[in-house]
Amino acid sequence: MGRKTLAIIKPDAVNDGYIGEIISMITKAGFKIKAMKMTYLTKAQAQKFYEVHKERPFYGELVDYMTSGPCVPIALEKDNAVADYRKLIGATDPAEAEEGTVRKLYARNKQFNAVHGSDSDENAEKEVAFFFSEQEILENYFD
Ligand code: GDP
Ligand code: MG
Repeated sequence: MGRKTLAIIKPDAVNDGYIGEIISMITKAGFKIKAMKMTYLTKAQAQKFYEVHKERPFYGELVDYMTSGPCVPIALEKDNAVADYRKLIGATDPAEAEEGTVRKLYARNKQFNAVHGSDSDENAEKEVAFFFSEQEILENYFD
């Protein structure tokens, strides 16, 4: 069971002013922030990050969305991080997300759904490394 996951506060949620609320929900749920930044993805970066979805009909829209404004990637740590974080954010489509989840509260719709979360320990490792160098993830800094 891995202890890492990658969250992204996506451009819609940044634009809608929800960075603070979402980070608050994440830390109150027991996740430790290991690294965080605000960045503006290039088209090439967004295409690479979402490469697993390149055959899907919504790939182009997804890349346009993720490059529509700044986003906030956050490397998180907790026991059972991947599953617990996906439970905190709720279903992909906020119409199907449980009450009290990040997406139920802050997503606009299935496309503009406020946050990303890794879907496996293996992808969590890759996605954290996509955004952060080892030096940016200072292990045990405050421990
Ligand atoms: P996630 O793991 O819950 O984020 O969902 P997926 O990995 O299946 O999809 C990746 C992202 O693509 C989602 O978070 C949405 O932003 C977007 N997306 C998913 N389904 C659709 C869709 O049917 N249409 C569009 N336009 N975007 C979608
Ligand atoms: Mg996914």
